[in-house]
Amino acid sequence: LACLVERFVAENDTDSIAELEITDDGVLKDLDIEGSIDYGTNATGLAAKDFGGIYAVKPLAVIRPAGADDVARVIRQALHSPTLTVAARGNGHSINGQAMAHNGIVIDMKSMGYNNRIDVNVTSMYADVGGGALWADVLKRCVLGCGLAPKSWTDYLDLTVGGTLSNAGVSGQAFRYGPQTSTVTELEVVTGNGEKTICSNSQNSELFYSVLGGLGQFGIITRARVLLQPAPDMVRWIRVVYSEFDEFTRDAELLITSKESFNYVEGYVLANSDDPINGWPSVPLASNQSFDLSHLPNNTGPVLYCLEVALHYSNHDDPSTVNMVVEKLLGRLRYIEHLRFEIDLSYMNFLLRVKHVEQAARASGIWDTPHPWLNIFVSKRDIAAFNQIVFQNILKHGVNGPMLTYPLLRSKWDNRSSVALPQGEIFYLVALLRFSHAHPQESEIKQMVAQNQEILQTCINNGFDFKLYLPRYESTVEWKTHFGDQWVRFVERKSQFDPKAVLAPGQKIFTRNH
Ligand code: FAD
Repeated sequence: LACLVERFVAENDTDSIAELEITDDGVLKDLDIEGSIDYGTNATGLAAKDFGGIYAVKPLAVIRPAGADDVARVIRQALHSPTLTVAARGNGHSINGQAMAHNGIVIDMKSMGYNNRIDVNVTSMYADVGGGALWADVLKRCVLGCGLAPKSWTDYLDLTVGGTLSNAGVSGQAFRYGPQTSTVTELEVVTGNGEKTICSNSQNSELFYSVLGGLGQFGIITRARVLLQPAPDMVRWIRVVYSEFDEFTRDAELLITSKESFNYVEGYVLANSDDPINGWPSVPLASNQSFDLSHLPNNTGPVLYCLEVALHYSNHDDPSTVNMVVEKLLGRLRYIEHLRFEIDLSYMNFLLRVKHVEQAARASGIWDTPHPWLNIFVSKRDIAAFNQIVFQNILKHGVNGPMLTYPLLRSKWDNRSSVALPQGEIFYLVALLRFSHAHPQESEIKQMVAQNQEILQTCINNGFDFKLYLPRYESTVEWKTHFGDQWVRFVERKSQFDPKAVLAPGQKIFTRNH
């Protein structure tokens, strides 16, 4: 990665911006929108940053659209210029500049105001949601307003609906319902041709499936119809610990393939140490719980595995019935006896659990530092070897943040969508969610990026069947390899819906053409 670890965002490229103001700004001057256009350094500086904090790419202007019609006007106007590109920016939680547009236009989807509203249809159990709405707001509106909730989530909810649908959107519910892309039935999209279009499985279906997991390449999602189900009141949140990877994976796979299971199944790898972030202290769920080392077998290796599950229940359920279901499900598992932790909490608090992590990270100054995160889907075929080489060796001391790993089922993903997945029915999400110190040296971040590269190279050298999730590549050749036999379809979709390659230039898949 040609990584620019600057003092998080550098004020660069002023010469080329000045040059462009003569050309493309001329085009933008004719722009007639209800919303607003902002050339100011505050707005463009913000749009030049993302959560990753590794790349800094300034746009020419930031648009705050009033709705889908403004989005369409902006794209149509950009088509008049030979060079202008347009990037939708959700909440800017990408890692590698995917929502940026070098000297282009960034559309701030969160500012669609009234058009980001969440309309719940209680009878038909769906919500029509603006593309720039945050999932946290969808949760609050659906649960508090109507007792309903989407089926599939991400772990963290301050992400936009359009942003996660452009990737996939996965969490511990995806084994049952598929990623978020599998739980929407209709989209309103503005294509790279500047056309506002409604699409679904039965109407403009090619556009519908292109856009789902499409990395923003085919259209900007301005509205999505999200399927809902009755929301539970409460959740029993449980963690159990393993010293053996094969027992951990056997149990995780048993849970995701059984008819009777928990409502949420995830897992993570931790260092076999007392490190407060990477080790044993990361496991207990409440301050009155502690990790008793005496239960660990003598031959325990450098890392441990934690299976994290959750069961939904209602306030009317008899507590003894809830306990019985939990014991029955846990009774089939082979975790280390006594290394079991659990708490009961409201469904809302469970889904908002990472918000508390964010608050703590903000307080200690590590939320706004760079995050060279790496997300990979690794085929079940290769996950044991991945564990040996990567978790037990390269990452045995941890990444100063969660190292998630849990299985998913390919059959829950629609292969008409644009996402690239490994082969085989079962594959694992591996998410290395790295945090730095509050005032990191450039060398610290470079080391993290280098370790990510080492892990990817290890996967390639060992012939592992894997795909990057939230991918980042620099060259067309690498993108071609990433999409494999889906590349031809991806290119055809591009030529149909965004032939001039105006959209999402930060993904670096296609180059803007006339
Ligand atoms: P942005 O980063 O703003 O945009 C991402 C891409 O989508 C860009 O290419 C952009 O141009 C495009 N885009 C944005 N909005 C639209 C739109 N309306 N229409 C078309 N294209 C659009 N992911 C998971 O799957 N599961 C998780 O549990 C999870 N947890 C996360 C936790 C944190 C703290 C962070 C930082 C990220 C997490 N992610 C997770 C990753 C997240 O899903 C992606 O980074 C996603 O892209 C972020 O959404 P965003 O709204 O910030 O999008």
